Amino acid sequence: MSFSEAANFIRQRQRFLITSHVNPDGDGIGAMMGLERALRKLGKEGIMILEAEPPKIFSFLPEYDRLKSLADFQHAPQYDAAILVDSPTLERVGKVADFLKPDIPMLNLDHHVSNQYFAPVNLVEPTFSSSAEMVYRLVVELGLAPDSGCAECLYTGIIIDTGRFRFSNTSPDTLRAAAALVAAGARPDIISEKIYEKNTLETTRALGKFIASLSLELDGKAAVGSFENEFITSEEYQRVETEGFVNHALSIEGVEVAAFLKEVEKGKTRASLRSRGGMDVNKLAGAFGGGGHSRAAGCTIMAPMAQAKAQLLEQMAKRLG
Ligand code: 5GP
Ligand code: MN
Repeated sequence: MSFSEAANFIRQRQRFLITSHVNPDGDGIGAMMGLERALRKLGKEGIMILEAEPPKIFSFLPEYDRLKSLADFQHAPQYDAAILVDSPTLERVGKVADFLKPDIPMLNLDHHVSNQYFAPVNLVEPTFSSSAEMVYRLVVELGLAPDSGCAECLYTGIIIDTGRFRFSNTSPDTLRAAAALVAAGARPDIISEKIYEKNTLETTRALGKFIASLSLELDGKAAVGSFENEFITSEEYQRVETEGFVNHALSIEGVEVAAFLKEVEKGKTRASLRSRGGMDVNKLAGAFGGGGHSRAAGCTIMAPMAQAKAQLLEQMAKRLG
C-alpha cells in the first residue's frame, strides 16, 4: 500500500491504538509519539501502549507520560483501528497482541526488510531509514506540518536508526526529512546531548567491560563481545543502557560482522548483530528465528552463552564463505 492509502486509512477512523516492538528503541518510540501528535492535530486520538514500561533514556521527549504500558490497563481500551510501528511481526509487540482484536482494522507501518506483512493493511518500506522517517512522510501526506514536539520525536527516531546519519540507510530523502524536522523545531544539539551524553557511570563502566570481553574470530572478520547472566542480573546492571555498544566491535579494522551476546536468562542468549554490508545479518539472525535489517539485526538463541557463541560463529563462518 502507498502513503496516500495509509493516510486514507487514518482519515476514515477516529481512535487508534498505537504500539511497537518489545524493548522499543528510539525509532519505535519516536515514530509512535510523532504519529500520536499528528493524530491529535487532526482531532483524532491515539492510545500508545507498549508491553513494558518504556526506557527512561527517551523521557526528554515531550509528553513522554502519554506512552503507557500494559500494566496501566485492566483490559483493552476502545479503539477503531490499531497501528503497529517498527514491528516486523505481530509476535514482536509481545503481550500487546492480546489487545489486538482480530476484527479491528490494523495498519502495519515498518521499514524492516524482514517484515512479514502480517496485517490486513501493510505499509512496509525497507528503503526508508527508519519508521520515524516513514511517519514524517505520512504526516506530510496527511497535509500536516509537524509541530516542534512531533519534529523532536521523529528526528530522534531518525538519528537512532541512522547512527546519527552515518549508516548506509541515510538517503537524500532521510536528510531532507531531518532538515524539515529541524526547521520545524527539532534541536540537533539538544537531542544529541539528551541521548548520547546522559550515560550513567554504570553504563560507561559497562562499555569498558564489553570492550574488554571482545574476541576476534574467523580470521579477524568477526568480533564478539558478551555479558554473562551474572552481570545482567546484577543490581548494577539496572543502571546500564547498552545501546550502541556493538558498534564498537564493528569499528575494529578488518571486522566484517560483530555480535553482542547477552545471556538474559540461564540458557537463553540474546544476540545483537551488525555488519558492514558484506554479510546479511537479517539472514544470519533468521537462522535463529530473529531478523531485522541487512546491517543490523537481532535474535534469541536458546542456549547458554558458550554454546550460543559457538552456534553463531558456525553460522557466520558459513556466510563468510
Ligand atoms: P538491536 O541489536 O539494536 O536490538 O536490533 C537491531 C535490529 O534488529 C532492530 O531493527 C530490531 O528491530 C531488529 N531485531 C532485534 N532483535 C530481533 C528479533 O529477535 N527478531 C526480529 N525479527 N528482529 C529483531
Ligand atoms: Mn526502526
